[in-house]
Amino acid sequence: MKITGVRCGRLRVPLKTPFKTTAHVVDAIDDVVVMLDTDDGRVGHGSAPASALITGDTYGAILDAVRGHLGPLLVGADVADLNRLVGRVQAAMEHNSSAKAAIDIALHDLFGQCHGAPLYGMLGGGDPSITTDITISVDYIDKMIADAVAAVERGFGALKIKVGKDAVLDVERVKAVHAAIAGRALLRLDANEGWTPKQAVRAIHQLEDAGVRLDLVEQPVKAWDVAGMAYVTERVNTSIAADESIATLTDVVEVVQRRAADVVNIKLMKLGGLSRALRVADLAAMYGVECMVGCMLESAVGAAAAAHLAVARADVVTRVDLDAPSLGRFNPVAGNVTFADAEITIGGAPGLGITAIAGLEPIAP
Ligand code: MG
Repeated sequence: MKITGVRCGRLRVPLKTPFKTTAHVVDAIDDVVVMLDTDDGRVGHGSAPASALITGDTYGAILDAVRGHLGPLLVGADVADLNRLVGRVQAAMEHNSSAKAAIDIALHDLFGQCHGAPLYGMLGGGDPSITTDITISVDYIDKMIADAVAAVERGFGALKIKVGKDAVLDVERVKAVHAAIAGRALLRLDANEGWTPKQAVRAIHQLEDAGVRLDLVEQPVKAWDVAGMAYVTERVNTSIAADESIATLTDVVEVVQRRAADVVNIKLMKLGGLSRALRVADLAAMYGVECMVGCMLESAVGAAAAAHLAVARADVVTRVDLDAPSLGRFNPVAGNVTFADAEITIGGAPGLGITAIAGLEPIAP
């Protein structure tokens, strides 16, 4: 199966409600969808969301990297040569992890199609049914309570609450949400780098002392401050997860060797795709660190790939944070992975199994 061409499309999905973290407010998913055509009429799909603030990758930069640098390397290549191809893609340019991820995902999709097996099967198998948490945006306390209760009523058993704006107010917000949901869901916090190490320790201790049991606290301190994260991890009972601190494989080595976090959040877009995410999973497993599989605000193309990974690497992936498709007003991606609020299930179609993407706007070559 040889690759004959690379096409791109733009996929925009408005969100049900604006997504608010300490750093930004977003009201729509904006993906570049990559399609790799083959000589036997198949299409491999991948995608990358514009998320300049997190990955540095803008819509235009993703498109330019795919069309001008990464895509041309693949024309004429044999899909069966997956590892060599992803190596070529990773080595072709610095940074641009989202564009690399989109291509890497599309190559894995084709590899699964080539072998007639769903992607998770190619990655090692597993139970193709997982549950995700849902994000509760930073907002006024009453709004956060209402959102949390509504999410529990929709069947979510784990909530990821955005904090990190004001450590004192954050403690009040979390206590209020905890009281309102009364043990009906696990609570995860994501501070998105918003606290200092000392603020983080104080806030987490206050919550622990108040009897608020947290499943984990994600990225309490700045991405670069691995020493600060280790300081927090050493001083609290609650599990600490590294997200923004993990952008490269060497970041993972540093975090796990310094025991700076108990959990590593794997996101395909920041790491450069499935091939790199698999290495992170292996590294974490070597060091006895658990993984969470997360996503950006992105469509169900990239999130599907992450779901396949979570299923196949359940040996080390203990938490799934793939709520982006259910934050959209609709899911335009038809195929093999069903995102039904908390429940994500994968069927047996080969590769990613995407059959149609509604509203995909073709981008002229
Ligand atoms: Mg995070």
